[in-house]
Amino acid sequence: MKKILNLQCAICGKEHKTRESDYVCTACGGPLAINYDYKLIKKRFDYDVLENNPSYNIWRYLDLLPIDDHDELPPVQVGWTPLYRADELAEKLGIRKLFIKDEGRNPTGSIKDRGSAVAVARALEVDAKVITDASSGNASDSLACITAGINLKTVIFAPRNTPEPKLVQLYIYGAEVIRIDGTYDDAFEICRKATERFNWYNRAAGFNPYAREGKKTCAFEICEQMQWEAPDKVLVAVGDGTILSGMWRGFQDFNKLGIIDKMPQMIAVQAEGSSAVTKAWFNDGKLEPVQANTIADSISVNVPRDGFLALQALKESEGSAVTVSDAEIIAAIPELARASSVFAEPGGAAVYAGLKKMVAQGAIKKDETVAIVVGGNGLKDIDAAAKSIQISQNLVKPDLDEIVNLGLLPKEN
Ligand SMILES: *Cc1c(COP(=O)(O)O)cnc(C)c1O
Ligand SMILES: [Zn+2]
Repeated sequence: MKKILNLQCAICGKEHKTRESDYVCTACGGPLAINYDYKLIKKRFDYDVLENNPSYNIWRYLDLLPIDDHDELPPVQVGWTPLYRADELAEKLGIRKLFIKDEGRNPTGSIKDRGSAVAVARALEVDAKVITDASSGNASDSLACITAGINLKTVIFAPRNTPEPKLVQLYIYGAEVIRIDGTYDDAFEICRKATERFNWYNRAAGFNPYAREGKKTCAFEICEQMQWEAPDKVLVAVGDGTILSGMWRGFQDFNKLGIIDKMPQMIAVQAEGSSAVTKAWFNDGKLEPVQANTIADSISVNVPRDGFLALQALKESEGSAVTVSDAEIIAAIPELARASSVFAEPGGAAVYAGLKKMVAQGAIKKDETVAIVVGGNGLKDIDAAAKSIQISQNLVKPDLDEIVNLGLLPKEN
């Protein structure tokens, strides 16, 4: 592959050729970062090229993605989600500018479609027959969607805490689903073992560097949607840390190509009950497994698979980390929806809860431009959303006078 120099281990530095490993370092098991030949890419990729490109999906950034075979890209339209400027909300919170990246607008309602699309393109490139994944839902949903209609069998290991809408999506798209009586981490291990034994292609987060590369496109879009600038701070919910580290890599790519000058600070938002990365950040930088327990299934992780890279991104960007409680996450769902029209699943609402906390702590300055990445749509976990509201159980007769007399209508008219 010409634009790719090598796949380099972030821990021991070992360099791999593209065919040598599609997963982790062959020497130490560390995560592989894909190194590009920026000089070569610079020859054909810049603003003008982008501005003249009519394809508004992740493949507009193909020059910066690790895919060579352009004839076999999966057809589902992924990416180019809206970046809303939320002026009123920014004013209410007391910050200069707030942008909301609504990743729930992807085909399966989450940011995971970005990683899955690139992993599937890679699987097709290496002629895989079966692709597999373990996730509490979003990553697997996206894989099932993107492989539907493609000659690539999909086997999903779903842990116990998979919310029903996410489980239903898997079956609808026709994936083979194996429900594991265990955690995400248990499902991850089974998936890895199956990959080894049957030589399947594995999309798993923090294991597959191609999937991580897909997350870069979210950073590219934010810069492009902000007229070739990066925000001062980017807040991302962290489970495995793939989104945060992948997006950081995207900002670095654009910086290396001279597309943006200023780099953002990356802020990790975690659930109190699943905060391995935050603990490491505020302690000695050493990742210790936790017993994850949070309503936000998509950030419920014992061992963050990309924790090392996420911590590296926090350090390099001079960022920070914050945790929020489940109660704060639940309360953030209607609050964000009512202020911005973005209905977030718990993992997405967590970022808004984290933003409020950072502002309250004075960790976000009043003159800063902030972008929050809302990773998934609220319809993906309706039970969690319903905890934040009261659905009336009182069915009234279809009689307007009676409805008025019961005092059920707002008083304004
Ligand atoms: C996967 C996911 C996250 C966390 O991403 P990681 O890469 O695991 O840190 C956050 N929010 C949503 C909605 C997700 O699906
Ligand atoms: Zn290594």
